[in-house]
Amino acid sequence: MAILNDVKGIGPKSLGLLNKMGIQTIDELVMHYPFRYEYLIRSNLMEIDEDEKVIIDGKIESIPILMRFKAGLNKMNFRLVTNQGVVGVSIFNRAFMKNVLQVGITVTVIGKYDRKKNVITASEIKMESLSNKAKIEPIYHVTKGITNKNISTYINMALLMYGKEITDYIPNVYIEKYNFSNKRTALNIVHNPPTDEKLNEARYRLKYEELFTFMFKINYLKKQNKNENIGMERKVSREKVLEFIQTIPFDLTSDQMRAVDEILDDLNSKGRMNRLLQGDVGSGKTIVSFIAMYINYLSGMQSALMAPTEILAIQHFHNLRDLLKEFNIHIALLTGSTLKKEKMEIYKELKSGSIDIVVGTHALIQDDVVYQNLGLVITDEQHRFGVNQRANLQNKGVKPDILYMSATPIPRTYALTIYGDMDTSIIKEKPKGRKKVVTCIKNSNEIKDVLQMMLDELKKHHQVYVIAPLVEDLNDSSELTSVCDLRDKMKLAFGEYYNIDIVHGKMASKAKELIMQEFVQGKIQILISTTVVEVGVDVANANMMVIFDANRFGLSTLHQLRGRVGRGSTESKCVLISDMDTKRLEVMEREDDGFKISEADFKLRGHGDLFGTKQSGDMTFKIANIKDDYDILLQAKKDSEEYLNCNNNVDELKLKLINSMNSSS
Ligand code: ADP
Ligand code: MG
Repeated sequence: MAILNDVKGIGPKSLGLLNKMGIQTIDELVMHYPFRYEYLIRSNLMEIDEDEKVIIDGKIESIPILMRFKAGLNKMNFRLVTNQGVVGVSIFNRAFMKNVLQVGITVTVIGKYDRKKNVITASEIKMESLSNKAKIEPIYHVTKGITNKNISTYINMALLMYGKEITDYIPNVYIEKYNFSNKRTALNIVHNPPTDEKLNEARYRLKYEELFTFMFKINYLKKQNKNENIGMERKVSREKVLEFIQTIPFDLTSDQMRAVDEILDDLNSKGRMNRLLQGDVGSGKTIVSFIAMYINYLSGMQSALMAPTEILAIQHFHNLRDLLKEFNIHIALLTGSTLKKEKMEIYKELKSGSIDIVVGTHALIQDDVVYQNLGLVITDEQHRFGVNQRANLQNKGVKPDILYMSATPIPRTYALTIYGDMDTSIIKEKPKGRKKVVTCIKNSNEIKDVLQMMLDELKKHHQVYVIAPLVEDLNDSSELTSVCDLRDKMKLAFGEYYNIDIVHGKMASKAKELIMQEFVQGKIQILISTTVVEVGVDVANANMMVIFDANRFGLSTLHQLRGRVGRGSTESKCVLISDMDTKRLEVMEREDDGFKISEADFKLRGHGDLFGTKQSGDMTFKIANIKDDYDILLQAKKDSEEYLNCNNNVDELKLKLINSMNSSS
């Protein structure tokens, strides 16, 4: 198999830059799709306004004359015959093009037209001779050091050299059924679209392939899980579990109890558990997962609890240790920043089986982690783990039972497809005594009132979260509030009497942990943060949150953030500061149900933040988009099921599809 390096034109430097952009393989390169297209519509020189960009085709009529100036600058002039007459063209600093700009060839010139002089000052000259009137130009995400043109050249070279070798994941039956072009042709078209119509066809085909592959994986996992013989049978009695539940300092809600029963049934049965535990923020999913791990411990097996952030992993670790302190259960914490020596020790103990429960980030599913008898894997906020990671997990050790927890309210229709391989338990009812978080919107002129509200809470010995969209001011003119900026301002306002500190994603995790611990212990009264506190952090005494530039966040993110307060018995407040977009933010004043909020967001913003790329690992496709392409998704779902269950059980393509799950992440 050829590698990126083999593509003509990609040297060590560009290779490094491509890698930085997340492109490691030829497949990834040719699937680096344009994120938009520009239409190069030919201009009419008589009609264009001053300063308007002109695009015009023509034949070069005169040998370009090159002039060189000081400091390496240069300029070329030539005449161009167009269907609107002859015009002069000058272009700066393209001396290197002199040899290709030959008399008689057709080029497309893009630039500014000076009507008086009848000269176009070109910003770009394209060599392709273009017959059709509009040319569609692909625009790519790039990085410093790589231009749009570079990317396009690399991709086209890769297609030319290796286009035949690119795996086509659509089985022949469907290629024929839908009259699809082959993959190479489709890729060629999306990167060099001749017409809109052809482009749409090619995009449709590639979207279908992407969704087909995805749904195939889901269906494959589902089919595997349904296989009775791959699960582990446990024999834990309900009495034993109830005894343990008695030791918990609060009563479980009936939804929590039902979830526990469903999990217990799964764990005791022969089949393999593959369950999604869904519940709004603060509904109490964590304790359910702890009980599941206790059940697994009773049957002598190891459990792994995986959190999306280090802060959260640490918090789970502490809570679990507190809850289980009366029991002789060995719990370890393993994250990306665990020291090497300690890590080696943990690996050893996981392998020997002396660790019963390990809590961590996705460091837990790295290849070098070997378990003695991993019986249960739990992932918190699982929407951040993609289907490939789910497959990866399932491939660890003996086939562990799996519980996913998610607070993301996904509309049912979507859930049926993207989580189609799982059973679900839902926690609707909140723990008793929870009060609705009183939410209000303030504009930036009302900061004084907000500070007064904060002071009122601080005086009652409560704690406050302050959230900002940025870590530091990017530049002086930045309109957005930053964590560092707020720290200085809050220190001015409250620093004399209260402790103020910050956490954000750029800090070393030891430092983050320290500050979170101090906040939990009440040593810090005002914690200023980015959205790193969004997921799962739990401090009951913090009953106020102030969110700056609230309009910058999706409603689901705001809902998650707000879920950090309202965890104790006193009334909690959330202040959204924004001068814009207040209609959307008003949803937050009215609603406290995550499902309703996500639906409202969905209506108001199209995709809503549920389908934003950063939130949902599962839903980031390269070319498809779950919402707009939902019909294709349904078709792909149907076809992939049919294909998976068709008679010729293992053909080569099926194996490729299955293998593709374990390679990428
Ligand atoms: P989430 O579902 O968002 O993960 P958590 O599991 O973090 O919610 O629970 C939120 C808080 O509610 C925690 O402090 C937890 O101890 C508490 N809690 C959970 N269940 C109950 C209950 N049945 N009664 C009272 N408090 C509960
Ligand atoms: Mg949680």
